Amino acid sequence: MIEVKGFSFTYPTGSRPALHDIGFEVGPHELCAVVGGSGAGKSTLAGVVSGTVPHLTGGCAEGLVQVNGRDLADTPLSGLVGQVGLVMQNPFNQISGARFSVREEIAFGLENMGVPRDEMAARVDTVLHDLGLTKVRDRSPYELSGGQQQLLAIGSVLVMRPTVMVLDEPTSQLDAAGSALVFEALGTLREQGVTTLLIEHRMERLARAADHVLVLDGGTIVAKGSPGEVLADE
Ligand code: ADP
Ligand code: ADP
Repeated sequence: MIEVKGFSFTYPTGSRPALHDIGFEVGPHELCAVVGGSGAGKSTLAGVVSGTVPHLTGGCAEGLVQVNGRDLADTPLSGLVGQVGLVMQNPFNQISGARFSVREEIAFGLENMGVPRDEMAARVDTVLHDLGLTKVRDRSPYELSGGQQQLLAIGSVLVMRPTVMVLDEPTSQLDAAGSALVFEALGTLREQGVTTLLIEHRMERLARAADHVLVLDGGTIVAKGSPGEVLADE
């Protein structure tokens, strides 16, 4: 569950707020899409909900951001591990590459946490299955299509069982087929009860994929509602 109330944020070097008086809620099984042009504040909002803004950026924040009832202002980033997962535009920000197979890549986070072998194997197999990656599990990430690479990045986050996932333009570097794979995975997250915040600059597919849409412009929410309500005006 994500709850944001009266939230404003200015970067240390910013002359004006990157976000101003933002408010919205996203519950379990819901996908909220955030759309808007370049500089609207989308990536900043992704950082706010995943805890990196302002913890890593510094700057001045006001208002309330809660994830699963925890106030992020009082929660160190380490406290969000296993609660909030972040997926970025470039899957190789997340996956380490050629040293590992797809399966080892997904297992990596659990291995670091010291999860017992049997449990690790079961959790990895479930994620491979849920994301349709079972048939490529022994390949190198470099041998996958762009869409599959992004699924792998999603899988390496999903295996940590976060209750909230933030995806920052996960399809921006993908062709139509790759984007379709990612949107299918978003449907899987929704079914599994994950609370999802999807940053997108394109409107296509959102009508079917999203429960709520927020339109950001100049750091403020200029429209908010169901895809039908919001996208009809675009
Ligand atoms: P979007 O993702 O919609 O393109 P951003 O969240 O990246 O928008 O940016 C919102 C505003 O904040 C822009 O004016 C941008 O220049 C500014 N901004 C983003 N990151 C930083 C930063 N690290 N330092 C200072 N200003 C930033
Ligand atoms: P996007 O538009 O995809 O959100 P940007 O090109 O705005 O990405 O930002 C790329 C990186 O540069 C981000 O890490 C962002 O925080 C940083 N950044 C953006 N605008 C500024 C700014 N005005 N000052 C400092 N860093 C910035």
